[in-house]
Amino acid sequence: MKTTSKVAVFDTTLRDGEQAAGTRLGGRDKMTIARQLARLRVDIIEAGFPASSPEDFEAVRAIAHEIQGPTICALSRAVAADIEACGKALARAKKPRIHTGIGVSDIHILGKFQDDRYGKTLEAKKAKMIALAVEAVKRARNCVDDVQFYAEDAGRAEPEYLYLMLDAVIAAGATVVNIPDTTGYTVPEQYGALIKGICDNVKNIKKATISVHCHDDLGLAVANSLAGVINGARQVEGTINGIGERAGNAALEEVVMGLRTRHDYYGLSTGIDPKEFFRTSRMVAEMLGMPVPANKAVIGTNAFSHSSGIHVDGFLKNRQTYEIMTPADVGISESKVVLTARTGRAGLKARLAKLGYELKKDELDTMYQRFLLVADKKQEVLDEDLAALVHDELPPAEHTIKLEYLHTYGGTSAIPTATVRVLVKGKMKEGAAIGDGPVDAVYKAIAAVTGSTAKLLRYEIRAITGGTEAMGEVTVHLERDGRRTLGRGASTDIIEASAKAYVDGLNRLG
Ligand code: MN
Repeated sequence: MKTTSKVAVFDTTLRDGEQAAGTRLGGRDKMTIARQLARLRVDIIEAGFPASSPEDFEAVRAIAHEIQGPTICALSRAVAADIEACGKALARAKKPRIHTGIGVSDIHILGKFQDDRYGKTLEAKKAKMIALAVEAVKRARNCVDDVQFYAEDAGRAEPEYLYLMLDAVIAAGATVVNIPDTTGYTVPEQYGALIKGICDNVKNIKKATISVHCHDDLGLAVANSLAGVINGARQVEGTINGIGERAGNAALEEVVMGLRTRHDYYGLSTGIDPKEFFRTSRMVAEMLGMPVPANKAVIGTNAFSHSSGIHVDGFLKNRQTYEIMTPADVGISESKVVLTARTGRAGLKARLAKLGYELKKDELDTMYQRFLLVADKKQEVLDEDLAALVHDELPPAEHTIKLEYLHTYGGTSAIPTATVRVLVKGKMKEGAAIGDGPVDAVYKAIAAVTGSTAKLLRYEIRAITGGTEAMGEVTVHLERDGRRTLGRGASTDIIEASAKAYVDGLNRLG
């Protein structure tokens, strides 16, 4: 265990987080998030799992090449081909790290390694797991100097066995040992004791950094992470907004603001620039179609609003009466910058850059035209509107289907009818349909003219900002042949936003 007072922040939004949304981010979205994570100054970005798909390999490769500052990490199982894929994807990173590992709980070992070639008895399998882990770490060390080992389901493992495993992988060259509570089963006292037990019982632990990776199945991921840190861990893993498998991972903004706000108690710091939290949070929510609840700690829209009379009165006299952090601490105050139709191209470009979006010249031209149209309709354009517009105008997947024209007819006494014209690979197609409502009619018409068999799993609409003139953003989840994707569309007209979201989803299904 390292005894520094600095806690390294390991972001896995692009790996554990992405897994959760039931969708894959395109390479462009991953890169945009990675740039923002670098601005947030996380220490390590886990960019993906290169062996899982050619797209993920390419995304990790591109991030490793472009992103400066943080260490770029790639995930692998304890399998030679996975590790080689990581090595290749990370070849151009300045600070590459391979994250490999294996299950250490009896449940995982018996469940995932049933085959006799891993040993006939539990004891034999456990010995084999250590051998496989050591081999994997050595193989990874042949590719890079920085190797992190994950002891999967450590939260439910037998501690003595975990100590043996960690001792062996550190001796084999692991620089970081990750102790995941994979199933979110532990409680803070227990998880803290597990980390302390590792510090006290693993002989060579001083050669490695202990990392905590907690899941939120019981709502304890952040509490468990902090319990781990106070007992000797010096790296925290988590995601923005706490997104991740099932109930999610530890929310990094909560862990970091916990350490920062209670520095008096922990005496520890991170390298994070918390003013980037709000922007990062909204970007991740947008791209993954997982909105942030209003009452979410640290970055929810209500996190800093005071409503009861007594609270408001006290707050106005002295902020500290009811506020332990200020909105400015996490970058909320800056978000209210308003753009209007009089904002020039340079102003728009600067604001987009501030929000983390880097656009090529022709893309900026397209965005500017769209921005003017929206500014004309709703007078004031807020940051949230801009984020939605970027996605609408510059979708992550190439659009082979384009919506050209849309007309709906409805009302309380008419059968909702829609007429659409779309371009499919440059060919114009037209069609009409009736439905239960205008959106249903539009979707049926688009499905008919494109010949789509995709199933609509979920449809969500929300007003991006307040007021009836607000932009509406629609998110749809589509499925075809077992593949799921998400589509998004934004417009001041919600029927149009709905149609765009559907078309975006169809394009992403390819
Ligand atoms: Mn996980």
